[in-house]
Amino acid sequence: MIPFFDMKMRHASLREEFLRAIGEIIDSGTFAGDAAVEAFENEFAAYCGSRYAVAVGSGTDALWLTMLAMGIGPGDEVITVPMTFVATVEAICQTGARPVFVDIDTRTYTMDPAALENALSSRTKAIMPVHLFGQTAAMDPIVEFARKHGLRVIEDAAQAHGAEYKSRKAGTIGDAGCFSFYPAKNLGAFGEGGAVVTADGDLASSLRMLRSHGQARKNHHVLRGWNSRLDAIQAVVLRIKLRHLDAENQTRQSHARRYDSGLGGAGAIRIPETARDCRHVHHIYAIRVGGRQRVMEMLAGKGISCAIHYPVPVHLQPAFAELGCQHGDFPVSERCAEEFLSLPMFPELTARQIDTVVEAIGEALGVCAAV
Ligand SMILES: *Cc1c(COP(=O)(O)O)cnc(C)c1O
Repeated sequence: MIPFFDMKMRHASLREEFLRAIGEIIDSGTFAGDAAVEAFENEFAAYCGSRYAVAVGSGTDALWLTMLAMGIGPGDEVITVPMTFVATVEAICQTGARPVFVDIDTRTYTMDPAALENALSSRTKAIMPVHLFGQTAAMDPIVEFARKHGLRVIEDAAQAHGAEYKSRKAGTIGDAGCFSFYPAKNLGAFGEGGAVVTADGDLASSLRMLRSHGQARKNHHVLRGWNSRLDAIQAVVLRIKLRHLDAENQTRQSHARRYDSGLGGAGAIRIPETARDCRHVHHIYAIRVGGRQRVMEMLAGKGISCAIHYPVPVHLQPAFAELGCQHGDFPVSERCAEEFLSLPMFPELTARQIDTVVEAIGEALGVCAAV
């Protein structure tokens, strides 16, 4: 049996450390935990090489609150991609702004900067590239386009903790970078969590107010905010896990190389490409293969679990029908949605397990080719 993702294994070695840290929170009784949260914020900002980090309740909130803090709302447009987790688009809609899609690049699966010009209108306020699967989007042309047209750049870095673009960490290249600490992410809490990193002090202080009912100080509500605080238990867990993030990302990279060399020769498969400027952290290892369903079933028959990110691009989801998009509007995203197959990827995966997956895929392709 090879799981798609194994949370239990991931936590076994750190169990004592987690219990001690959580025990300290229980003993102190400070679950809202300003000190623990602030310590994590400082460490995460330092890790990213950013000036500020503001911890919030989830990655979705990180995106939404960042746009609120920038004053984005009804009548505005935000450009993003349809090949992403739905939260990117939900967050835009939640502000009252309208999401405007551009397609992804055929090789890197991130925002195609050449498509931005067509999506621009007088209402455009921001661009939200998504660092899909752990690889940063082509940030230089995106930021350059944004500067030229006076737009903000908000990075959806929920899948890219520790990824780099030209030696700069994901999240620090645009005006703000939004992270999720959902348990399955490369840096995951024991529940929900998120953060925004930014070099903009005004943005950071607006975010601090917005996440706590718009309070500038107790009972003094200067903005209409929300309750979106990270709690102390998540903060201490994240502090521990942050110390292991680089090593875990390196292990993911070596797993990816092993998959690459095992699968690279199979003509029917496209392995993920890493752009020259990027340090890919392989949150998801997605191959592209025709006849995906059959391959997936054959792997399942051997006890190998795969997943699909994402079988329906957001522009074709019923919840966003109102946007009026059609089949064929974003052909690269649509094609990828039909072909993507995410293979097991987590740090504790063994070389043997990877070889087993590679072999099983080879067999499945052989059988598919024979019929
Ligand atoms: C996980 C994810 C989010 C949302 O994060 P949550 O913490 O689950 O709210 C947003 N965007 C992308 C690309 C994600 O993968």
